Amino acid sequence: MKTKILLVGIDGLILRTALESGRAPMLTSLKEAGHFTELTMDVPTLSGPGWSTLLTGSTHSQHAVTDNRFSGHNLLSRPDLLSRAFYQDQSTTTFAAAGWPPLVDPSGVGPVIHERREQARASQHRVISRDGETYGYERVDAEIANVSVFAMEKFGPDVSFVYFCDADEAGHTHGVVGEHYVEAISRVDAHLVRLHDTIKRRVEKYQEEWLLVLTTDHGHVNEGGHGSDSPQERASFVIARGIGRVNPQWPLNFAPENLASLILNERA
Ligand SMILES: [Zn+2]
Repeated sequence: MKTKILLVGIDGLILRTALESGRAPMLTSLKEAGHFTELTMDVPTLSGPGWSTLLTGSTHSQHAVTDNRFSGHNLLSRPDLLSRAFYQDQSTTTFAAAGWPPLVDPSGVGPVIHERREQARASQHRVISRDGETYGYERVDAEIANVSVFAMEKFGPDVSFVYFCDADEAGHTHGVVGEHYVEAISRVDAHLVRLHDTIKRRVEKYQEEWLLVLTTDHGHVNEGGHGSDSPQERASFVIARGIGRVNPQWPLNFAPENLASLILNERA
């Protein structure tokens, strides 16, 4: 049986702040038990280029996403992780859920995750798109978590991407020093607990093998905001925890554009 993948994208997460806060027990235990790699994101440290790199395995110059407007992007010829898993094995089922429309909404400026309409019509590719920019990420992330738990439980998709942006929004509004940012991190951590528990139940019930992978696209300066080349803005990470299987044997150092291929190799 092939390993099932859940990649969770936590936008704008400063992992060190999360670990030191004592308010992110799931992140902390996954980091301790899983494979851990520090990543250094390329500049500009913006969500558009960052997620495009992590999800498609491309450098900034390859995907040509230079900011969050996505104008002139090359994403149509840079398929995302879910699509690549499908092209590798056309029995693969995929799932994506995100509250930032450029990641998943075909009517918007992206999307980074390809629509793949034929697979969507065949229920082999399910996409949940919400609009956290309009309705706020605290609410929208909770919806994303609810729908994702349901989808994982009911369908057990082979390769999934689930995205949370509450922490990034709190960072922009209040900065990353102080209670607001940590509170948002603790809400995201609670979503992670539910996803992790759902995977554990599946592993016990169906003897499946899962790989839970966590990453972020950038950090923030202390006052909130990102895009430049300070170490705190460029700092990212990968936590990869095998559930019902061993952790992956990945290098201790690799570039952000290598993550997608490393994940796909676990399904080979
Ligand atoms: Zn971001």
